[in-house]
Amino acid sequence: MAILVVGSVAFDSIATPHGKVEHCLGGAATYFSLAASSFTDVRVIAVVGEDFLPEHEAVFTARGIDTRGIERAPGLSFHWTGAYAGTMNEAETLGTDLNVFERFEPKIPEAYTDSEYLFLANIDPLLQVRVRSQMANVRMVCGDTMNYWISSHAENLAKVLRELDVLLINDGEARMLSGEQNSVRAAEKVLAMGPKSLVMKHGEYGATGFFGARSFAGGAVPRPFRAPALPLAEVVDPTGAGDSFAGGFYGYIASQPELTPEVFRRAMFYGGVMGSFACERFGTERLQAVTRAEIEARFEIFREISHLDCASV
Ligand code: AMP
Repeated sequence: MAILVVGSVAFDSIATPHGKVEHCLGGAATYFSLAASSFTDVRVIAVVGEDFLPEHEAVFTARGIDTRGIERAPGLSFHWTGAYAGTMNEAETLGTDLNVFERFEPKIPEAYTDSEYLFLANIDPLLQVRVRSQMANVRMVCGDTMNYWISSHAENLAKVLRELDVLLINDGEARMLSGEQNSVRAAEKVLAMGPKSLVMKHGEYGATGFFGARSFAGGAVPRPFRAPALPLAEVVDPTGAGDSFAGGFYGYIASQPELTPEVFRRAMFYGGVMGSFACERFGTERLQAVTRAEIEARFEIFREISHLDCASV
């Protein structure tokens, strides 16, 4: 099963209390596809500039990711500059140089049109809607967004939300989108805007899945489900943790025959696992090297830290 992801492939300059990196490979579609590639086939649609070299493309192809949809344009790639301080839960954006990304018109290669799963990473909702409309036969659509689109492009974002099986956003974004401070009420309002299910991420505190009447075929609507995050003694660089969560979550779903409540819950654990790996090194370094055995070992730790065996009490 193949996931098609559309989003940013970028270079990031990042400062955290652990050090600094300049111009390292990043972007939402990059983190997403590296994380998902441990579970399923991934195809990327993005635009890059002349600074995107064969060595950068090799990061994708080494993990079996299909890069035929990465368009080359004259100029420089999207460049994001950010810094983290204190609890490191939120990045301070210091610069967003859109460069070739400013005129991004996603084009879907013929070879990608049979993709069963679509991930609309954080880009202009207008582009998300366009890609969605060209992929009429997908089995499932998941998406992400950010504060900027919530506050300034609400009308287009509303169209995207109606198309989504699962929306993955953090709790601050859910509060902003719904106007509700309480996370349960915020989730109810967000679900009323269209997505069948919502994964609300809480940074170092894990994520909560909220379900609506259309989340799963048949059966009762499941209660919300909370998946943990791994308490890490050292968060080196949280950039891309959210996109890596999405890659682990969706990659696992795409590897399963059917989306059931149990598959959804496991997928949230795999999302947390991939998010935790992303934080351990600067940029995509850790995700480039992670093995399936390491992923499964960490999944077990996630189970242990959140498991209560009532029978033995
Ligand atoms: P995350 O930390 O999961 O929210 O994702 C961070 C990644 O998103 C970085 O690698 C950036 O290159 C990318 N990014 C930051 N701002 C934007 C934006 N406005 N549009 C698209 N991608 C972005």
